[in-house]
Amino acid sequence: MYDIKALYEADSVQHAVQLLLEHPEAVIIAGGSDVLIKIREGKLAGRELISIYGLDELRGIRKEEDGTIRIGSLTSFRHITADPIIRKHLSVLGEAVDMVGGPQIRSIGTIGGNTCNGVTSADSASTLFSLDAVIEITGPDGIRLVPIEQFYLGPGKVDLRAGELQTSILIAKDSYIGYKGHYIKYGMRNAMEIATTGCSVNVKLSRDKKTVRDIRIGYGVAGPVPLRARHTEDVIRGCAVSAETRSRIGEEVREDVHPRDSWRAAKDFREHLCSTMAMRAFTEAVRKSGGEIDD
Ligand SMILES: Cc1cc2nc3c(=O)[nH]c(=O)nc-3n(C[C@H](O)[C@H](O)[C@H](O)COP(=O)(O)OP(=O)(O)OC[C@H]3O[C@@H](n4cnc5c(N)ncnc54)[C@H](O)[C@@H]3O)c2cc1C
Repeated sequence: MYDIKALYEADSVQHAVQLLLEHPEAVIIAGGSDVLIKIREGKLAGRELISIYGLDELRGIRKEEDGTIRIGSLTSFRHITADPIIRKHLSVLGEAVDMVGGPQIRSIGTIGGNTCNGVTSADSASTLFSLDAVIEITGPDGIRLVPIEQFYLGPGKVDLRAGELQTSILIAKDSYIGYKGHYIKYGMRNAMEIATTGCSVNVKLSRDKKTVRDIRIGYGVAGPVPLRARHTEDVIRGCAVSAETRSRIGEEVREDVHPRDSWRAAKDFREHLCSTMAMRAFTEAVRKSGGEIDD
């Protein structure tokens, strides 16, 4: 039995906003794969829940007229991985969310829940960071758009105000056209395992595939919230596609990351992972882009 005080079911986004204002202490529940566990553990026991799971308008992926890819917040991981738009334009995201938990979790868990729980290990987060994703939030004052880096305020805390819910995740055309990415999850086993560290690298190469025109590196569990390796990106932009550049990435990212000790891994080991994973993900992203690194 779950200790739930009341369950309100929203029948539209506006109704969800209204319910959130009427019940300010209530917790949103989407797929419930985080919320129900917290209720069972006692952390959210006895709370009111507002279910948004029935809002089909928040489910699915579409390409807008200006090329922006809109991912509804209730879209499941399974749906994302199989979606033709994702496979064509954002395959790195489909691959990243295919590493979440196991098949059941990937069917019930939503990308909105994965980002709104504010957890640094969320498998979608580092890739969404490396894609410059923008979070669409709907609330009593309408819609506001927040770059994903600003959405994360601290461990378990995201920029959602009273009466607000996340409605979509947006990836602008300029953020994905010409880019190829690769995500690596390091965990202690392959399934049903939270990332010890995750790293997602997106690159855009020059036409002749010899120069890194742009690079975006996202991390999970390299700090209290997911982060971008901005310093490394600035150093590497414009460098040759080479083994030397790859080694430089491995060295420079140590300035960007600040992991900590936990029972899963020591700080030093995580720093080593951050370095090695960025180099490997870079190699794969270059390969997917049609480039080659001479070893
Ligand atoms: C066995 C198991 C294995 C797991 N493995 C992984 C893993 O490998 N990788 C990984 O990243 N995660 C993993 N998870 C965590 C979880 O499945 C994901 O975080 C999932 O994406 C949560 O989505 P949900 O729809 O179930 O969220 P819910 O549990 O419904 O909600 C999660 C949080 O987000 C809030 N929320 C949800 N949707 C919205 C919205 N649209 N607007 C505002 N707030 C919202 C809720 O209030 C709650 O705080 C695992 C969980 C379990 C139980």
